[in-house]
Amino acid sequence: MSNTENKTPLKPDTQLAHTGRDSRGFHGFVNPPVVHASTVLYPDVKTLVTGGQTYSYARRGNPTTDSLEGALKELEGAAGVKLANSGLNAVALAILSCVKSGDHILIADTSYQPTRHFADTVLPNFGVKVEYYDPKLAANIKTLFRPETTAVFVEAPGSLTFEMQDVPAIAAVAHEIDATVLMDNTWASPLYCRPLSLGVDLSIQAGTKYIVGHSDAMLGTIAASEKAWDNLHAVCGAMGSHVAPDDIYLGLRGLRTLSVRLERHQRNTFEVLNWLKDQPQIGALRYPALETDPGYKIWKRDFSGSSGLCGFDFRQGTTKEQSFAFLDALELFGLGFSWGGFESLAIPVKLKGSRSVTPVDEDRHMVRLHIGLEDPEDLIRDMDRALKKVFG
Ligand SMILES: *Cc1c(COP(=O)(O)O)cnc(C)c1O
Repeated sequence: MSNTENKTPLKPDTQLAHTGRDSRGFHGFVNPPVVHASTVLYPDVKTLVTGGQTYSYARRGNPTTDSLEGALKELEGAAGVKLANSGLNAVALAILSCVKSGDHILIADTSYQPTRHFADTVLPNFGVKVEYYDPKLAANIKTLFRPETTAVFVEAPGSLTFEMQDVPAIAAVAHEIDATVLMDNTWASPLYCRPLSLGVDLSIQAGTKYIVGHSDAMLGTIAASEKAWDNLHAVCGAMGSHVAPDDIYLGLRGLRTLSVRLERHQRNTFEVLNWLKDQPQIGALRYPALETDPGYKIWKRDFSGSSGLCGFDFRQGTTKEQSFAFLDALELFGLGFSWGGFESLAIPVKLKGSRSVTPVDEDRHMVRLHIGLEDPEDLIRDMDRALKKVFG
């Protein structure tokens, strides 16, 4: 149960084990039931016409929704949490809750490409002006503010290229003009970064990744500050947003082991990168938790851990064919989108079309890796074999 009577706040690991469940409320069973529902029956007309009971209709929530939303509310330190049917849906709902016709939104150039696609194809239809900004701007982002700027979207580290952003500095200047600050915090999960404590108003997770954690369901979550909550709640309700109970349950189950999984993802990633850095075919590594990374200082200040998603550049002169051949030669790394499951994955990085204000070097070949829960020695052996096969 939550720690309402307990004055000392619980540590995150303890929260993960206890939050969002009420065993005594469900006959003592450890886990909450999965409520499959649409209609909710009322005892009499008076209760129905006055809305005099907790649940009215399953689209608006049920005990299963409440369990996961309640758990995340506690973890994120939020005024309220809404679930969405995918990470991208969470991004879209969060943005729609804080912009209107005539407004201007600033979005980090290094944001997840489908976020850009939503902003470029949907927002202009409703008269919202979209502008991308260099993620390195920090407080200087204020030079881009206009009288109609109402939202600033950050993502740290950046998609595919892993640049860190100075979120507290951006949030401070954004709040001076009363703009809403949104953050896609999928990389760190709410366990290793708590965006609301950095000044963010809407903290977004692709729950598909580490919260579900097993590559078997899609989920999005949005945690709101006091200021952002009413609008978020209203927009999610008006849009008819609803997540299937079995998927919510998988998210809730994933949360229980989030800490042990992330710790291992982190450790394995360090081992793999530590080996990769000495390979002659490899150029820069991309992972803000490395002391050599340009984003290390900010990561160290704002995050309490790092996850399994990282990247590397092949050394100068590597051809696209060689980089593709390397990926094809991997046996333990799956080739596929998404990440956050127990398994290791690799994809070639294509930046063309997904950056507008930061330079893209098309001759540089990059790989994004998700380091899973396998034994890192096996992962290293697999990469070593693939490198030797391609580069001799
Ligand atoms: C995967 C991802 C999303 C989208 O999540 P889906 O559940 O796949 O829609 C959003 N942001 C980031 C950073 C992601 O990695």
